[in-house]
Amino acid sequence: MKPEIRDKYEVVIGIECHVQLATKSKLFCSCDNDSREAEPNTNVCEVCFGMPGTLPVLNKRAVELAMRLGKALNYEYPEKLHTKFDRKNYFYPDSPKGYQITQFDEPIVGEGFVEFPLEGRTVRIGITRAHLEGDAGKLTHPEGKDYSLVDLNRAETPLVEIVSEPDMRTPAEAKGYAQELYNLVRYAGVSQANLYYGNMRFDVNVSVRLKGAKELGTRTETKNLNSFKAIERTVEYETRRQIVLVEHGDRVRQETRGWNDAKQQTYPMRSKEDADEYRYFPEPDLPPLVIPRAMAAAQGHFDFLPADLRVLLAKVGISPRDAEVLVGEPELARVWYEAHKLEPKHARFVFTWLAGPEIKLREDHGPESQLTPRILNQVAAMAAAGQLSSTNAKELLGLLRAHAADPSKLASERGLMQESNEGELAKIVEQVMADHPQAVADYRAGNQRAFGALVGASMKATKGKGNPPLINQLLKDRLG
Ligand code: ADP
Ligand code: MG
Ligand code: ZN
Repeated sequence: MKPEIRDKYEVVIGIECHVQLATKSKLFCSCDNDSREAEPNTNVCEVCFGMPGTLPVLNKRAVELAMRLGKALNYEYPEKLHTKFDRKNYFYPDSPKGYQITQFDEPIVGEGFVEFPLEGRTVRIGITRAHLEGDAGKLTHPEGKDYSLVDLNRAETPLVEIVSEPDMRTPAEAKGYAQELYNLVRYAGVSQANLYYGNMRFDVNVSVRLKGAKELGTRTETKNLNSFKAIERTVEYETRRQIVLVEHGDRVRQETRGWNDAKQQTYPMRSKEDADEYRYFPEPDLPPLVIPRAMAAAQGHFDFLPADLRVLLAKVGISPRDAEVLVGEPELARVWYEAHKLEPKHARFVFTWLAGPEIKLREDHGPESQLTPRILNQVAAMAAAGQLSSTNAKELLGLLRAHAADPSKLASERGLMQESNEGELAKIVEQVMADHPQAVADYRAGNQRAFGALVGASMKATKGKGNPPLINQLLKDRLG
């Protein structure tokens, strides 16, 4: 597409995100919330199966986690929050009840916002609302068969749906927003947030309009994306497709679309031109809830959220770009945070380890590590005191990661300590000078290279364990 055509249009993006909450049991019954290992239709009971005459019992933990997420989304809870459940009526085989229990006009989370850094600026995306609802079952359509299969293990697992304002304008902003939600739900600890298992699923609404237009264009909604790349690509693809339509004098149809990852294309699923008639009404089987502010506040204590971590990292001189490497790893971020709290002066050293070799080691060997914030700080202190070269510090940390041990003892045992005992090194340096009278004379006669030879000989005499800056200093003092 010619840039001058592309530039006539503004892209508008709003995202709905379904987050599966990390409760033990489902939203309205005591069935396990996690069916990953279960055979189809084994993790079900008469409630989530939707048998007539059964009654839902609301999972208190789901309500607490939803409020915790609300705090992370910067929702200001009112003195008393009135929230209730509603029936959304629809007929589809993934929901045997014939309706979904969700929230319509009194959601558990109201207006908030999400902020994240992008290309040197801060992007703020409005949150319209977030509500609690039960998930549907899973349908599969076997290749070449004339039937579909229903698995209700997932039915009534607890979801929060986070609805954003149509505030995003570029593929990068859409991707950044989704990534920040991913960060937030993990920092807040409200979800397993496993994208592969569909713990977070994104619906991406895209429309285009001529720049300067007041009205929003007609949107398409591409459903059930579970990767950030797919979100970015969906926005790019829909933008292009819609601009081409408009440029040809056609109109964009309001519809639900899917994403074909193999073809890197969206495809139409169903029209949304006739407004869906869900006949919402208050759920008669669940009482409304009135939540005092103090109760919501009690769920919203965080040592730190991504934004707090970014501030701390910037304070110790980590660039925004590097900071995101650690921000994207909540478990390592926690280790850094604790180490920094114990000993701020080693923050950069600890960061360099965690955001570098540690991430690589996790990929290769798994997340298990014996490195505690205390041990990291101890090794940092040894490096700062000149007892460890940076290479040896890394080697020591690798060893300590696999087996807990006393850092100084292990470093001595493994011969990783740098000789920084000034008295010892002075003796060695003096011996080297006595053994190399020609080099000493050459240096005193102005030959700088002779100095290097003396440093080299001293390092060799310490078997490579001498602290180089200290050896330099001792030689200089003696050569005059
Ligand atoms: P529905 O459930 O019908 O999709 P919601 O109100 O739950 O409706 O969600 C609509 C989502 O689409 C929100 O994230 C909103 O910001 C976004 N949106 C609404 N209108 C537009 C538009 N014209 N272009 C892009 N996004 C839009
Ligand atoms: Mg929607
Ligand atoms: Zn059940």
